[in-house]
Amino acid sequence: MISVEEALGRVTAAFSVLPAETIGLSEALGRVLAEDVAAAVSQPPQDVSAMDGYAVRAADVGSAPATLAVIGQAPAGMPFEGEVGPGEAVRIFTGGPLPRGADAVVIQENTEAEGARVTVRESVPPGNYVRPAGLDFRAGDVGLPAGKLLTARDVGLAAAMNRPWLRVRRRPRVAILATGDELVMPGEAMAPSQIISSNGLSLAAFVSACGGVAIHLGIAPDERRALAALAAGARGADLLITSGGASVGDHDLVRQVLGDVGLELDFWKIAMRPGKPLIFGRMGATPMLGLPGNPVSSLVCATLFVRPAMEIMLGHEAAGPSESAVLTAPLGENDRRQDYLRARLAVQADGTRKVTPFERQDSSMLATLAQADCLIVRKPLAAAVDAGAEVEIIRLAGGALAV
Ligand code: AMP
Ligand code: MG
Repeated sequence: MISVEEALGRVTAAFSVLPAETIGLSEALGRVLAEDVAAAVSQPPQDVSAMDGYAVRAADVGSAPATLAVIGQAPAGMPFEGEVGPGEAVRIFTGGPLPRGADAVVIQENTEAEGARVTVRESVPPGNYVRPAGLDFRAGDVGLPAGKLLTARDVGLAAAMNRPWLRVRRRPRVAILATGDELVMPGEAMAPSQIISSNGLSLAAFVSACGGVAIHLGIAPDERRALAALAAGARGADLLITSGGASVGDHDLVRQVLGDVGLELDFWKIAMRPGKPLIFGRMGATPMLGLPGNPVSSLVCATLFVRPAMEIMLGHEAAGPSESAVLTAPLGENDRRQDYLRARLAVQADGTRKVTPFERQDSSMLATLAQADCLIVRKPLAAAVDAGAEVEIIRLAGGALAV
């Protein structure tokens, strides 16, 4: 058995950043930029009004009230072509270009219009309610850096910068193969002894949330030929994930069978709980992670090993340093395996994070995992701790679909 740290080091060493591809902005949500994106235009492109009102010369309204001649109008997108001279004003609307000669905008609420004249009741400084050209960004400014995971806000910014096409990392292609004679797909006819395969779908969803594309290879029975045949479908993928059949039982064939068809084993078995019988290796050019079948083990292992692999392939900064939280219940001493306890996290009004482990930590309990917000990390041989102690946690939420 190797430590989690060593396993993680070996897994991450097997991946590198994927090539870039060009996509349209409507496809950009959740993608990772492969290069900096600089603005093709300035925004606003010229000085514009921030309000509905009148464009004036600030000097003209220095001793308000002042009555000015209204010589035209400037709605958004329709500039007034003339020039504002002394004693003159132009009716202007939000986003309308500031006419030549004017240097300020007086809001409509502080004026009184009367035919072709307007009385301004306040004096304003130059620049009042004017958005100068380039206020938001200037042509050439880098608005979005390489490595950024694109949110809805970023899509809007790229559009405003007039960058309709972006270079992003190709999505990692992850082949997923569930194994087990007892498994049926949700909705299928099933005998009382059969189990619904949840791992294939949960792992695919996990892969999507990390920004990858899941390729479903289906369910392989615990039988050599079928297992080898279905695993062959992973050729060309960036990662093969199997679930189940990784342990030491008579029906746990993944390591042997894939070994016969070219799996170069890197390691098997990690000093962790859940997830001890994890397999890692390479089949040809495709790294392979063999996750244990218990649903909680497979998703905890995905969180610890698949997520970092995906982040490397996408060139996206890894999640920040781990966090700590205050325990609300005591924990007993730990054995030689690094424990990942499913737990609920509550953030109090003062920002303190309180964490409560679930009483039962069986690795088959998917309902508990679904309710959990985080995992409490317990180092090997950690001493017993009382309520109130600080512990390390890993949040479970998060993924590519950020807005
Ligand atoms: P295994 O790792 O194959 O020994 O499986 C361990 C446990 O996980 C067994 O109770 C299996 O029935 C269960 N299991 C294996 N694969 C899946 C799956 N795809 N979905 C849900 N449970 C599974
Ligand atoms: Mg099995």
